[in-house]
Order: sequence, then structure tokens, then C-alpha cells
Amino acid sequence: MEKKDLDWGSLPFSYMKTDYSYVCNYKNGAWEEGGLTTDHSLQMSECAGVLHYAQTIFEGLKAYTTESGDIVCFRPDLNAQRMADSAARLCMPEFPQDKFVEAVKEVVTANAAWVPPFGSGATLYVRPYMFATGDVIGVKPADEYQFRILVTPVGPYFKGGDTAVTITVADYDRAAPHGTGNIKAGLNYAMSLYPGEKAHAAGYAENLYLDSMTRTYVEETGGANILLVDKDGNLVVPQSFTNSILPSITRRSLVVVARDILGMNVIERPVKFQEILDGDFVECGMCGTAAVISPVGHIEAEGIDVTFPDGAETSGPVMHKLRSTLTEIQSGKVEGPEGWVVKIL
Ligand SMILES: *Cc1c(COP(=O)(O)O)cnc(C)c1O
Repeated sequence: MEKKDLDWGSLPFSYMKTDYSYVCNYKNGAWEEGGLTTDHSLQMSECAGVLHYAQTIFEGLKAYTTESGDIVCFRPDLNAQRMADSAARLCMPEFPQDKFVEAVKEVVTANAAWVPPFGSGATLYVRPYMFATGDVIGVKPADEYQFRILVTPVGPYFKGGDTAVTITVADYDRAAPHGTGNIKAGLNYAMSLYPGEKAHAAGYAENLYLDSMTRTYVEETGGANILLVDKDGNLVVPQSFTNSILPSITRRSLVVVARDILGMNVIERPVKFQEILDGDFVECGMCGTAAVISPVGHIEAEGIDVTFPDGAETSGPVMHKLRSTLTEIQSGKVEGPEGWVVKIL
């Protein structure tokens, strides 16, 4: 298959129109057949529920080329499941999970010419999303929805490569104490834009959010879960007692990699921000689909100046090992657990 004529090595992390998107409508209590479309814009009622009450959710995964030339994606079943959980929380219908995986395969196959070649550092970002198209004026869930998938080739999320970044502490909450932070929904991102812009303007890469109920425990950053390494070399994974950390697929996969493949001790527990201030951790990383792990070297805020000594400049040894092992599994170099790497083409 003829690849598109793109400079794969220098793609930004931004949207580019490709050949096909996938679209499927929900009407009269049922999902229609759904299929590919070449129409990349959409028209809807001025009264659509998404526009007024923010009934919209999304997912993100990547399709990429392995060393042997296969086009694959990573654990799409978990994206399907998480989207179903997000839908339930926002009173939206579940998009059938097997249909989700089939739709991902269909739209990636149709856009195979846009999947970056192995070794380019780029991937095809796959963005499933669903929103309320039905008219709503009184506050209630809409009765019509659209599910779509767009795909777009992207370069690395963090341009600086393995350079450790400095993050700050948001003085805003990301999620309400009654919890919507554990779903992948635009509403959480909308609430993070203001503190995010403030952090960027002050020179920080990201915000670290504390739990919104007591503001004493670490949750996650704006768009990535946090991983820590303590002085004994344990991987410490923050847990939320209000269930408001987004269940990152990368984080859940890294826990398995650390425990079952690298033989590390993994501790998943609530982590007090004070422990970080006390210097109890030697490495920190942010994990998510786009970057796998990006190293955090410092946390700074008014009266706060924390350095992670083993990863202050670039990834520390544990984050480095975790990232390279997961990357090798994804690229097919190392065999991972059954069902993780799903062949598309
Ligand atoms: C998507 C997302 C992540 C990362 O999840 P992955 O499944 O690993 O990509 C982490 N935090 C938030 C808030 C997210 O939206």
C-alpha cells in the first residue's frame, strides 16, 4: 500500500484531515449500522444536548506499525470498556464494546496509508468520541447521540524527548468530590483549561491535581496519571479515595509490566502530597497513551520546591526501564501478555 507523502519524522501533535472517519447514530433507542464517511464536518441542531449540558465523552488510542510491518493497536478493548463507563456516568447509551473495536479496525484499515512507518516516532492517533445530538432544553439526558472516530497522524506529544519537565500544583480542583474525574469527558478538560493556561504561562509543563475533598492526596496531572518510585525502589501508584483518577490504560499496563515482567514491587495506595514534599520519592513520571511515560524532574509552586533526585534531568532508571519494556511490547520486539497488541492489518 502506498503511504501518504508526509515528513513522518517531524509531525506535530495536531489534527490533520485524513481520508475517512467513522460515524454511527443512535436514534429511537438503538444504534444504527454505522460506517465510514469522507465528510469531516458535521451539522446539528442548535439545541443539541452536547452544546448546552456538555454530554460528550471521548477516548484516545494509537495505531502504529510494528517492526515486522504489521499495523496494530494496543488494548482497544479497554478503551471500549472505559468509554462505556464514561457513557454510563453521563447518562448516554453504551456503544457496544465489540462494535467499538470493529469500528477502530475498520477506520484504521481504511486510512492505512496514514499510519506512520515503524521507527518514525509518529503514530496514528485514534480518537473515538460520542456526543448528544438530540434537542434538550430542560435539564435531562438527550435521546439522540452520535458516535464518531477520527484518526490523524501525530508526532510525539512531548517535543523535548526524554528531558524531565517541571510541573506545578493546581490551586483549582479538577473533579468534584462526588467524582466525575474518573471518566474521559470533555467537561473535565474544560475545567482544567484555566489552571492549565496559568501553569503554562508560568513556565510549567503540567498541573498536579490534589484530591478535591481534602486537598491532601495526590491525584494526577491534567491529562496523565502519576507514577512514583520510593527510596526502596518500589513503584508507588497513587490511588484516589474519591475514585476520581482516570483509569489510564498505560498506567494499568505498566503496573503489570513492573510486577509480572520486571519483578518489581508495586504498591497502589493513596499518596499524601506531604510525602512528596518530605522527599520520600526518587523518581516521578506522567503516563498516558501519547507519551507512555514522560519524566517529571521537579515540582514547584509557591513555597514548594521538590526535586526527584534519580530523574531530575532525564528519566530515572526505573521510569526508563518501564517505558522501554512497554514500548518493546507495543512494537512487537518483546512478547507481552495475551491480547495486548491487536493486529489490524
Ligand atoms: C486519557 C487520560 C489519561 C491517560 O490514559 P491512557 O489510557 O493511558 O491514555 C490520564 N488522565 C486523564 C485525565 C486522561 O484523560
